[in-house]
Amino acid sequence: MSSVPEYFGTLVFDDRTMKGCLSPEAYASLRKTIDEGAKLDISLANEVAQAMKEWAISKGATHYTHWFQPMTGITAEKHDSFITPGADGRVIMEFSGKELIKGEPDASSFPSGGLRATFEARGYTAWDPTSYAFIKGNSLCIPTAFCSYGGQALDKKTPLLRSMEALNKQALRVIKLFGNEDVKCVRTSVGPEQEYFLVDKKLYDQRPDLKFAGRTLFGAPAPKGQELSDHYFGVIPTRVTNYMEDLNEELWKLGIFAKTEHNEVAPAQHELAPIYSSTNLATDQNQLTMEIMQKVALKHDLVCLLHEKPFEGVNGSGKHNNWSMATDTGVNLLSPGETPYENAQFLTFLVAVIEAVDEYQDLLRITVATAGNDHRLGANEAPPAVVSMFLGDELTGVLKAIEEDAPYGGGAKKPMKLGVDVLPLFKRDSTDRNRTSPFAFTGNKFEFRMLGSQNSIACANIMLNAAVASVLQKYADILENATDFESELHKLIQKTIKEHKRIIFDGNGYDDSWLEEAAKRGLSNYRTTPDALPHLTDKKNMDMLTGLKVYMASELESREEILLDNYNKTIIIEARTMVDMATKNILPAIYDYESSLINTESVKKGLGLGAGKYESKVIDILSKDIDLISEKADELAATIDEVSKIEDIKAQSEAIRDKVLPLMDELRAPADDAEKNVPEKNWPYPSYAKLLFSVD
Ligand code: ADP
Ligand code: MG
Repeated sequence: MSSVPEYFGTLVFDDRTMKGCLSPEAYASLRKTIDEGAKLDISLANEVAQAMKEWAISKGATHYTHWFQPMTGITAEKHDSFITPGADGRVIMEFSGKELIKGEPDASSFPSGGLRATFEARGYTAWDPTSYAFIKGNSLCIPTAFCSYGGQALDKKTPLLRSMEALNKQALRVIKLFGNEDVKCVRTSVGPEQEYFLVDKKLYDQRPDLKFAGRTLFGAPAPKGQELSDHYFGVIPTRVTNYMEDLNEELWKLGIFAKTEHNEVAPAQHELAPIYSSTNLATDQNQLTMEIMQKVALKHDLVCLLHEKPFEGVNGSGKHNNWSMATDTGVNLLSPGETPYENAQFLTFLVAVIEAVDEYQDLLRITVATAGNDHRLGANEAPPAVVSMFLGDELTGVLKAIEEDAPYGGGAKKPMKLGVDVLPLFKRDSTDRNRTSPFAFTGNKFEFRMLGSQNSIACANIMLNAAVASVLQKYADILENATDFESELHKLIQKTIKEHKRIIFDGNGYDDSWLEEAAKRGLSNYRTTPDALPHLTDKKNMDMLTGLKVYMASELESREEILLDNYNKTIIIEARTMVDMATKNILPAIYDYESSLINTESVKKGLGLGAGKYESKVIDILSKDIDLISEKADELAATIDEVSKIEDIKAQSEAIRDKVLPLMDELRAPADDAEKNVPEKNWPYPSYAKLLFSVD
C-alpha cells in the first residue's frame, strides 16, 4: 500500500489535477468560474470535459453520472457510459462539454411537492464547478444541481449555492465599510461531526425494524447501557479499528479530510469528523461520507446505522455543524482580531449572527425537524427543541459592557468603546464549556448542534447563511448611509444586543427550568416536526428567503409539503413494521413458550406436584402481555388505516403524532416486558445486549 500523501485525493478531480490536465488559460478561466462565479463558455467546458474524461478513464472509469441531491435527503445518480460507436464499428470513449454541463435524468419519481406535474416530469441537472468531480466504482461522478424546466430547485444544492451567494454579497458590502477593498469574496465554511452506530450484519439481518425503519422498534434494555461512560473515548475495538482504517482510506482517496474518530457515549456508537471546508464542498462530502460509511461497513460484515435513535435508552446520534465565515484574503470574520478596528468588524459579524439566530430561530429548528430527530431533541442527550446561543463568559461580558456603556475588563475605567478598545483573544477552552447549548460559540466559529445524524447539512446551512445575509443587508443599508460610521456602528451594535440578547443563554439547556425561562423570553419551542414545519411558510420567513432569492415562494410551499409527507410516511412504515413483527413473530413466540409452561403446569398437577410457582407467575405475566400486544396491534393497524385516509398533509401529520406514536409506545411496552420473561432462545429477535455489545 502506498503512503497516504500518495493516494490522498487520487479519485478526485481537484485543483491539483485540474492544473495538471488543463491548458494554463483553461485552468485560469475555470478557477475564475469557481472563485468568482464567472460564466463558463462552451469551448472551455469542452476542454474540461475532455480532460476529465481522459483522467477518469486512466482511473478505470467507463461511465459518468450527474450526481445530485434530490429532496429524498440522499444522493441520486444515473449512469451513462462514455461509449460511442466509432466509424469502423469500433468503440470510442466520448464526453462533451454539453454532457458535462447539463443532464436530463428522467426524474418523475423524485418528490417535488407539486412543483412538477408528471407530464412535464423532466428536470435537468447542471454542473456545479465549485464542487469537485470524483470517481466512485467505475463512474465519474459530476456534482450537479437539479432543477425543473421552470427553473425551480428540486434539490438541496441549488438553494445552498444561492444562500452562499446571498451571504457573500451582503457580507462584502459590510466588509467594504471597514476599508477592506481587496476582499473579493466571503465564504462560509463547515466542519460536520458525524455520529453513527455499528452493529453486526448477521444480527441486523434478523431485525425487520432495523431493515425497514433504521431503528429498533422493540427491545428490552440490556443489563448494561452507557451508565459507566466507559465507552466514551474508550479503546476502540479491533473490528472497529479495521473498519475505521478502511473507511479513512476510501475517504482520503476521494480527497475528504477525515481527521478524528473516537468512540461516542453509547455502546457501539462512534464519531467521525473531517477538517472543515467550503460549505458546498462540505455538504457534498458529508453526503458521500455517509454513503461510504455504509458501504465500507458491509465489507466488514457490519452495518452502519445513521438513524438518530437506533436504540431506546442509550444516546442517539447527531451531527454538529461547525460554521464560520471567512474572506478570500484569509480573515475569519468570527475571530477577534488584533487591532481595535478588526475587533469592531468582528463584533459586527458576531451580533449579526446573534440577530439572525434570534430572528430566524424557527427556521433553524425547522432544518432539523424529522421523525428521527424528534426522538432526540428535548430528550436528555441532545439540545432541547428551543434554539438558544452560548457565547462564553468573556464575550457575554464584552457585549454587556457595550450594551450598558460600561467599562470592560480589570482596571478599565472608561466605557467600552468600539474602534478604540481591544478585545481579549478568546481561548477555545474558555468558550467551549457548555455542551448543552444548541448553538455555541467555540472561539472562532459557531457550532450548531441540533442536527440529526441523517440530516443533510444543506438545509441548516441554507437557513443560517440566508438569515445572516438578511441581517447584514439591513446593517449595510444603515451603515452605508451613515454620516459618522463609528457612532452609527456603535448604536447599531448596542441596539442589536438590547433587542436580541434573549437568545443568549449560558446555563444548562437540559434543565426543565430553562424551558420555563425560554417561554418567558418569548423563544419558540416547537417540540415536534408537525409543530415546526408549517412555520417554513410563515410570512416573515417567506419574505426573507424570497427577498434574498434563496427560495421562490413555490419552492418553499413544495418543500413544506415534501418534508411533512416524509414525516408521515416514515412513521407509517414504522407502525406497519411493528404490527407485522408483533403479529407474525412476537405473539407466536410468547404463545409457544406460554403453552409449554401451561403443559408443564398441568403435567405437574397431574402428578400431584401442585402448580409450579414459576410457571404460574410467568403464565400470568405472559397472558396479560399477549392480550395487550394483540389488542394494541389491532388498534394500531386500525389507526394506520384511519390516518392514511386523511388528505390534508398537515392534519395527517398531527394525527400521526397524536394517535399513531402513542400507540406504538403502548404496543412496545408489553412486548418488551414479555421479552424480559421469555428465554432468549425463544425470542425471535436478537436482544439489545447482543446488538450493542457484539462488535469487538
Ligand atoms: P469538537 O467540537 O469535537 O471539540 P473540534 O472543535 O476540534 O472538535 O472540531 C470540530 C469541527 O470543527 C472539525 O470538523 C473542524 O475542522 C471544524 N472547524 C474548526 N475550525 C473551523 C472553522 N473556522 N470553521 C468551520 N469549521 C471549523
Ligand atoms: Mg463538536
